[in-house]
Amino acid sequence: MLRQALAGGSFMENQQSFKKLFPDLHAKLKAKLVQAGEGGLTVAFEDLEIHYRCKCEHRFCSSFWATSRAIEDPRDEDGYRSVWIKFDENEAIFDVIINEIIYIEFETNIESVGEVLAKMDLPQKPYFVG
Ligand SMILES: [Zn+2]
Repeated sequence: MLRQALAGGSFMENQQSFKKLFPDLHAKLKAKLVQAGEGGLTVAFEDLEIHYRCKCEHRFCSSFWATSRAIEDPRDEDGYRSVWIKFDENEAIFDVIINEIIYIEFETNIESVGEVLAKMDLPQKPYFVG
């Protein structure tokens, strides 16, 4: 706790840390990013915070916004690309602007992740459709 305070992270921010909430999944995806030649994203991925849940009807939706920036559709931003990472029987789709991770979606919702996200007191923000 003291170390966190010294590092400047508030308790709330800490609660939203993807790595702290889902350490195994984080480690797996981080290794896959490196394998996929996307090592440049690991710095952002290390400190990734969950800012908004996806606003869809699915009970266990595991997609989330990793930025509080007012971006409605990342595809409209300069430097946008999507990074597809296969893991287990699933695939994670990272929406990236240069080396900033904006949104993460899972091709198949991960129930354990969706359950945690649903219990968090997070605002919801729709994912761009199209
Ligand atoms: Zn959703």
